[in-house]
Amino acid sequence: MQQFNNIGILGGTFDPIHYGHIVAAECVRDALQLDRIIFIPAARPPHKTPGEILDSQHRLEMVKLAVKDNPYFVVSELEINRSGLSYTVDTIAVFQQKCPQTKIFFIIGVDALLLINTWKDYERLASMCSFAVVTRPGYQLNRDSEAFRDIPPEVLNKIHLLQVPGLYISSSHIRQRVGRGQTIKYLLPPAIEDYIREHDLYQEEEYSYD
Ligand code: ATP
Ligand code: MG
Repeated sequence: MQQFNNIGILGGTFDPIHYGHIVAAECVRDALQLDRIIFIPAARPPHKTPGEILDSQHRLEMVKLAVKDNPYFVVSELEINRSGLSYTVDTIAVFQQKCPQTKIFFIIGVDALLLINTWKDYERLASMCSFAVVTRPGYQLNRDSEAFRDIPPEVLNKIHLLQVPGLYISSSHIRQRVGRGQTIKYLLPPAIEDYIREHDLYQEEEYSYD
């Protein structure tokens, strides 16, 4: 792999990828002057029930469509090709080993950060990367807030809190809207909307969304 000074890694289920992910990735890249943003779709995310997630090949295809027009964006199939659960710590370890000179920023929304003390080996993870934490509508977090108290100090020391344009978009909401026959235009790139229609994805979904 090409050696860069610094990269951002955005892991997610991407079921499907949407403008919330893409805008966050681009704003972090710009703010931290990163050389590349690597999108890594999880094969089997530990926090989600397997039956509830769309086949990884469809999710991967949609991420590929989303990154196509940004030369800084790339997709990694590392987690998709790995067996077992998709733990971030294992993924970051691979990048660190391959590119020991590259500074790694793991991009994470505030909602995910609040759960980080449930992640596998989060202390080791924090020793290998920094965290570019992006704001997300619906989740309050700043360094003075109570929620910050539950974040382990190892992680806290490595956090860059970045304000990004707030997009109240989530994959769950998109799946629900498709299932109900509601429009998803302007929530994700048109090519992904077309992909969802062509493959009849998310037809059965009925989520409670609040
Ligand atoms: P789901 O509703 O299925 O959980 P999601 O929209 O939260 O989907 P994920 O794939 O779970 O998407 O998220 C991957 C990462 O992107 C997480 O770190 C999450 O916090 C972040 N993220 C997702 N949507 C947004 C958004 N609208 N703004 C900021 N960050 C986001
Ligand atoms: Mg999520």
